[in-house]
Parts: sequence; structure tokens; C-alpha cells
Amino acid sequence: MPGADPIREGERLLTICNACRYCEGYCAVFPAMERRMSFSDADVHFLANLCHGCAECYYACQYAPPHEFGVNVPRAFAEIRARSYEHYAWPRGLAKVFQGRGIVAIWLAVLAALVAGGANMGGARFYDVIPHDWMITIFLALGVFTAVVQSAGLVRFWKDGGEGIGPWLRPAALARAIRDILSLKNLDSGGVGCTYPDELHSRARRRYHHFAFYGFLLCFASTTVAAIYDNVFGWIAPYAYGSAPVVLGTLGGIGLLIGPVGLLLLRRQRDAAIADPKQDGADASFLILLFLTSFTGLMLLALRETTLMGVLLVTHLAVVLALFVTLPYGKFVHGIYRAAALFKNALEQGPERR
Ligand code: SF4
Ligand code: SF4
Repeated sequence: MPGADPIREGERLLTICNACRYCEGYCAVFPAMERRMSFSDADVHFLANLCHGCAECYYACQYAPPHEFGVNVPRAFAEIRARSYEHYAWPRGLAKVFQGRGIVAIWLAVLAALVAGGANMGGARFYDVIPHDWMITIFLALGVFTAVVQSAGLVRFWKDGGEGIGPWLRPAALARAIRDILSLKNLDSGGVGCTYPDELHSRARRRYHHFAFYGFLLCFASTTVAAIYDNVFGWIAPYAYGSAPVVLGTLGGIGLLIGPVGLLLLRRQRDAAIADPKQDGADASFLILLFLTSFTGLMLLALRETTLMGVLLVTHLAVVLALFVTLPYGKFVHGIYRAAALFKNALEQGPERR
């Protein structure tokens, strides 16, 4: 019977699946499982993060509920993934604070801090609204915080799986993992059955992930280029509509509008039997923050010559700050650990896989 502890439940299901092996062609999880005779906590975390929740194994399973074995791999793995975000987070206690509705409170707190700290909403130029040095200090501190905390979580996840830095020097495996990560190819359902009503919805899931993923990368590139313009060349924002930061940010912003909205709509159509309802708040708030980051950024771009510029700038910066503070503790971590799991899987497969 299903157990209360997600890790023990994962171990129970993996033991059943390892005897059955009916689903070994469905995804990377089952071949990785078959390379093991027993399952440590780290193995269960690794396999759960390798799973992309397509639910094919659930619909194919002869031991799924109402069978007494109650095998429901996608749901059990969803719970284990959520546990892994908290388990490897550093400092671990902060992961609880930043879950679900906590994000809204943080956004309001950051907004209040910006306003109380001297933001001049009526300023005519960006740095009249928020002084240049203050903006640089805030974002530099936050960038360092996010990078350190996120790296600490990734190191803990990687070391827990028994891996050192040696594997990073194996370029063939690294290249395979990067190809899998960038193509998101595992998100397609193979057609036996899937989380969504039909194959079309399943493929849409991959497309929306692409929009969100590359939209985020383009927005990050835009911010990086803008920082170089400012700090290396001394070119002060706002930049021309045809400049690199604006073009990258606009393209990325469009991706971050389409991807999160599409994923939020798809969530309403998924099969509730394979979802973990405890994660709904954290998942939705991450997607909403991504959408708001893009929406407020594009509004700022469109209305930067008007009297609304000050309000829009402060709102956009508050959303970006809230997003970055919560990145290492929310759904974003899923992408980091999944990438690490794909790399570990590529290492275990050895050189024979092309
Ligand atoms: S999910 Fe069910 S059918 Fe698939 S390997 Fe596990 S026990 Fe067998
Ligand atoms: S839900 Fe999909 S990805 Fe996850 S174990 Fe089952 S078949 Fe594999």
C-alpha cells in the first residue's frame, strides 16, 4: 500500500517497477532504474528529477489504482521532486518561507522597500526614479545571493549522488546532456497515454516550456548586455529600440508571456490523478511571477516616454527582485536539478549512446 513518506514510497514503487520492467522503453527513468539493484535516498531524488511527468507509465500500468499495489509513479515522483527542492536548498529553512503565497508577500515587501527607500515615481528619467548607484547595489547583491544559494543547492544535489567534479571533464557526456536540456526532447509524450487529454496538448506542453525557457534566457542576456553597456562603456539606460538589450528583452519578454500563460492554461486540463496538489501554489506563483516580469517590462518599454514611467519602473523592478529572491527556492530549481539529472544519466549511459 502507498506510504506516507515520499522517499519510502518512491523506493517501494521502484522496487515493484524493477521487477516488472514493462515500461522500460517509455523514458530515461526506467533504464536508469534498471542499472540499480537497490535505491538510496539520493537515487530516488535523482530518478524523480529525471522524470518529466508525462504519465505514460501510469496509464500503462497494470498495478495502478485501484490495484492494491497502488502504483502511481508520476504522482510519487512529483512529491519527491518537491521534497528534493527543500532538502537540497541552502539555507534549508528559507525554502519553506518562499513557497506558494509567500512570494506575494515578498513582492509587496520589496515594492514597499523601494517606495520607502526613496523611489521618486515622478522622475522623468530612469535614474531620477531610482538613483543609479542604489539600483546597481541592490541588483549586484541580489545577483550574488541568487548565484551562491543556487550553486550551493546544486552542489549538494550533485554530491549526494556520489559525484565529484571529475565527470564535468567528460565532454561527450556533457555535450549529450546539453543537447537533451536545450531541446527539451523528453517532454514529448510517446503516445501510450499522457498527462493531458490528447497528443496535441502534450506537444503544446513542450512548446510552452520552450517559450518560457528561451524567453528567460533572452531576458537574462538582455540584462547582462545592459549591465556591460552601463558599467564597461558608460552608456546609460534607456537604450534605443533597435539596441541589443531592447531587442533581446523584447523577444525574451514575448516568450515569457506565451510560455507561462500556456503552461497555466494547460495545468487546468491535466489529469488530477497524477498531480501533487500541494505544489499548485508554488508552481502557479512562479509562472505568474515570470509573466508579470515580462508584462511589466514590456509595458515599461512601451510607455517609457509617458508620465507612467516611474510607477512602471518601480513595479517592474519589484517583480524582478521578487523573482530573483525566490528563484533558488521555487519551481525554477526544477530546471537546475533536472539538468543535473540528465547529465548524470548521460554519464551512466556511457559512450555507446549517440
Ligand atoms: S509503472 Fe507499472 S507497468 Fe510500468 S514498470 Fe512500473 S509496475 Fe510495471
Ligand atoms: S511519468 Fe513519464 S517520465 Fe515519469 S517515469 Fe513515468 S513514463 Fe517516465
